[in-house]
Amino acid sequence: VEGTALQRHRLDALLVDASVAAGAHLLTGEPATDPRLEGNRLVEFRVGEKKIRAKEVIVADGVRSTFGQKLGRIWHKGEVFGIAARSYCESPFSDEPWMHSHVELRDEEGVVQPGYGWIFPIGDGSVNLGCGALSTNKRPAKVNTKKLLSQYASQQRAEWQLGDEKFITSAALPMGGAVSNVAGANWMIIGDAAACVNPLNGEGIDYGLETAALATEILGTNKDLTLVWPDLLRQHYGEAFMLARTLARVLTYPQFLPLAGPIGLRGPMHVAARLMGNLITEEDRDFTARLWRTAGTAVSTARAGSPLWDSTF
Ligand SMILES: Cc1cc2nc3c(=O)[nH]c(=O)nc-3n(C[C@H](O)[C@H](O)[C@H](O)COP(=O)(O)OP(=O)(O)OC[C@H]3O[C@@H](n4cnc5c(N)ncnc54)[C@H](O)[C@@H]3O)c2cc1C
Repeated sequence: VEGTALQRHRLDALLVDASVAAGAHLLTGEPATDPRLEGNRLVEFRVGEKKIRAKEVIVADGVRSTFGQKLGRIWHKGEVFGIAARSYCESPFSDEPWMHSHVELRDEEGVVQPGYGWIFPIGDGSVNLGCGALSTNKRPAKVNTKKLLSQYASQQRAEWQLGDEKFITSAALPMGGAVSNVAGANWMIIGDAAACVNPLNGEGIDYGLETAALATEILGTNKDLTLVWPDLLRQHYGEAFMLARTLARVLTYPQFLPLAGPIGLRGPMHVAARLMGNLITEEDRDFTARLWRTAGTAVSTARAGSPLWDSTF
């Protein structure tokens, strides 16, 4: 099958099957709850009626991270976060070999929004069509993403011969490491729950998989993970996430969108593309620094002490 992406439920099923084949014991149907902590060591939790004694725990409970919150995880909404919506639509161009994105996203009144739209052909007769916008709690994106999604779909309908939007889902996404307390003595938080989402494109699946692989490397080492895990995250993603967050944050200031949008995301795609792929060059550091300086002191003050998986334990 041609195409560029996989429907999410199919990817999830493949991952579950592979884990079970590799020896994982799967418990489904009930969430993990009631973590019992001694200091910041997780000693026990429940899955339904079952009590589980915790030896080492990797927590991958997504954006809301209700289990993570009970362990002390804090999401800093003052930092830039994404809001995204996606749908699946039928299209005769489902086996198109390229992903498409439209970085000039406009709301009903035609005002440019700090975000972008995408169409990922899936190869099964449908495409994944969605849009995302950047936000902070001080400057919330003034868009209803589901509405924006339907407008975007109408704009693309003729060219892609799109059917109706189906299986619409949306969420707010913590990004770029803007959470605190992602580890304790014997537990580590990974994926979305640890804000491992690229601030420029909202991509989080590969970071989820990568952070899972990274976490398993330090299981069984008998180390206290409280500082080891966030240090490892900073080594791998710290600089790229900080630069991308900086650039993304500038885009949430309406006055900078016309300036930064064309430079950062429209014109020469190279800077944004490299930051999206964790491939930073000196040129990108300079570019982001210059952009940041242009944004002025109000913004610079906001950067000081900006959280990056810090620990308050
Ligand atoms: C609209 C939209 C479109 C996106 N499109 C893309 C894309 O095209 N490409 C990309 O790379 N990323 C995309 N993302 C981001 C991507 O979905 C996430 O980054 C990714 O799913 C993170 O994986 P995760 O395993 O950390 O969290 P999740 O995929 O959210 O998985 C967490 C799981 O934990 C379960 N859970 C929660 N609490 C408990 C508990 N207490 N006990 C047991 N289970 C629990 C949840 O039910 C859920 O199944 C998109 C996000 C949105 C909102």
